[in-house]
Amino acid sequence: MSLDAVLSRIDADLGAATDRLLTFLRIPSISTDPAYKGQVSEAADWLVAELGQIGVDATAHKTPGHPMVVGHGGEGGRSLLFYGHYDVQPVDPLELWDRDPFDPAIEDTPKGKVIRGRGASDDKGQLMTFVEACRAWKAVHGTLPARLTFLFEGEEESGSPSLVPFLEQNRDLLAADLGLICDTALYGRDTPAITTMLRGLLGEEVTVTGPSRDLHSGSYGGPAMNPIRVLAKVLAGLHDLQGRVTVPGFYDDVEEVSEQVSQQWDALGFDAGSFLGEVGLSSPAGEADRSALEQIWARPTCEINGIKGGYAGAGFKTVLPSQASAKISFRLVAAQDPLKIRESFRQMVRDAMPPDCTVEFHGHGAAPASRMDISDPAFEAARKALSGEWPKDAAYVGAGGSIPVAGHLQQILGIDSMLIGFGKGDDQIHSPNEKYDLESFHRGMRSWARILDAIS
Ligand SMILES: [Zn+2]
Repeated sequence: MSLDAVLSRIDADLGAATDRLLTFLRIPSISTDPAYKGQVSEAADWLVAELGQIGVDATAHKTPGHPMVVGHGGEGGRSLLFYGHYDVQPVDPLELWDRDPFDPAIEDTPKGKVIRGRGASDDKGQLMTFVEACRAWKAVHGTLPARLTFLFEGEEESGSPSLVPFLEQNRDLLAADLGLICDTALYGRDTPAITTMLRGLLGEEVTVTGPSRDLHSGSYGGPAMNPIRVLAKVLAGLHDLQGRVTVPGFYDDVEEVSEQVSQQWDALGFDAGSFLGEVGLSSPAGEADRSALEQIWARPTCEINGIKGGYAGAGFKTVLPSQASAKISFRLVAAQDPLKIRESFRQMVRDAMPPDCTVEFHGHGAAPASRMDISDPAFEAARKALSGEWPKDAAYVGAGGSIPVAGHLQQILGIDSMLIGFGKGDDQIHSPNEKYDLESFHRGMRSWARILDAIS
């Protein structure tokens, strides 16, 4: 009953909520460009004032970069930390926009009404779905639904340099039981999703050295070992004929997804043919006994990202090079330990070196995967709540790439997060003519009201 009152309040207030979002979007908070430093701060101050209106005591905390907005409000129930970011991407190339990116407006399109402007979807519109849900809750109940901590970052689009130190220095200020992150998309236009698995990443650069200088193949070809030949053999041996990675122990800490999640994934009806067709491919190249969706969300990979060595310029040169190198990345899942994988990989490469060849390694980052413990009843409660708002049932999904903040909240604050967002695949985030569907904004607010009602 009381949830219905909050939902009705959201419906009745949609026009005013949209006006507030348009005001927020008019602030050009481009974090990567120092010329906009003042405007980024202005956006932080705007949020502090908005939070103040719903009884949240908020402060824009100084950092070496842009401010971090933190607010607290509500009491009783679960303690929840909500994360969003108020900075936006640059707008270049400006000539490809149909309107001023910072003069946002509601537009009619064949697919419905959209809010057009930089940051509409990523992430100001998404961030405001939560704030507006709280506003409606407060209007109906006179209080907020739970102990809420709001964390709004102003550097997400420029590499988040202050985020980790800020989290480390403010553990008490940010303490909570569970994180809520609104910076992701729906699975499909009608299918909401809770992202619960994010792959980690390990980068390695390998340099094989053979002769002490580049040689002429007429003079030395035959007796001299060619490092490109050695490197190519190593790289070609990284996968077996079934597409499995051959690094010893690579799959030791990989876990199978549960039957429940696997059934949800089947129900999503993912079409590997059209997914690959869009990029001119037809047949999944990962592990032969795994679906393409599983390969992206739940399985680790090894990819060769670049190879260098010898002469690759115009014309021809019969060089036998002194060195050859390659850049290799691994996407990691579950409990795979990046450092253990790195050492196993390096040992495998060292073992493959013939006499007269040496190998050197340079590491490029090592981040473990994040996976959320969905046995926490809040996850299933949130999934049901989301399913009640959208035409199709919500699913737990994975993310092939990383969303670093989720890992930081786990590692530094010790909390899992529910990553729930309402972006759509055609929102053109980071591109000209970014938009957020009015439907996403409206249903997004209603979704949070339902979720807060279900989990607080
Ligand atoms: Zn974002």
